[in-house]
Amino acid sequence: MIQHPGNVFVVSAPSGAGKSTLTQRLVRSVPDLSFSISFTTRKPRPGEVDGRDYFFIDDARFDALVAEGGLVEWVEVYGRRYGTGRAWLDGVLATGRDILLDIETTGAMNLRRAMPEARMIFILPPSAAALEQRLRSRGQDSDEQIHIRMQHAKHELELYSAYDYLILNDDLELAYRQFESIVLAARAARERMAPAARRILEGF
Ligand code: ADP
Ligand code: 5GP
Repeated sequence: MIQHPGNVFVVSAPSGAGKSTLTQRLVRSVPDLSFSISFTTRKPRPGEVDGRDYFFIDDARFDALVAEGGLVEWVEVYGRRYGTGRAWLDGVLATGRDILLDIETTGAMNLRRAMPEARMIFILPPSAAALEQRLRSRGQDSDEQIHIRMQHAKHELELYSAYDYLILNDDLELAYRQFESIVLAARAARERMAPAARRILEGF
């Protein structure tokens, strides 16, 4: 029998701050931690798999989910919509697994209202110059796209004070240890561990 529902962690970061690097390692290393699978109306990119990277759905289906209250939060970015499925989220949490939601800042603010117990994590780049350098060295974006991403990064960073944890991703190893520590420490919280403590006591 499950003694406790899972914890919800939300992670946001400006593009290029190192969110993918950190989250991929975390999900590989920490047991019983699921990574979010959102609904989206955007088309799959090469290599993306429906039901693994996203649930890829059309506009009509997304409209229906919104109408029936099936999304905990959702946003529209450049005409594409992204949302976190309520049934999916509840289903994972009910198994006792923790969940890591990768959502942008507007959705994160909405999720916080819907789930005040969620732990909000923001990944900071060391500086604006370092962020631009990382975007360039990743080699995925044109100069114009980098300019747009840098503008957008500023808007996202301005919301840092709404997050519970700010991880400075300068030294990757240290940033990763902080990230992992947040998840592991949450698992030791008294309210989560109290049933185990009572069970142990009963054995005396
Ligand atoms: P995001 O998912 O936030 O867009 P990525 O994880 O793709 O960012 O990282 C952007 C680039 O920066 C990648 O080339 C990655 O290898 C590099 N990077 C990530 N963390 C660090 C770090 N601490 N120091 C130097 N480079 C890093
Ligand atoms: P991409 O199209 O590159 O996969 O994702 C674009 C952005 O959408 C990322 O910043 C990602 O964090 C965000 N995103 C993905 N899923 C969701 C979601 O369910 N809700 C919200 N609010 N943002 C999401």
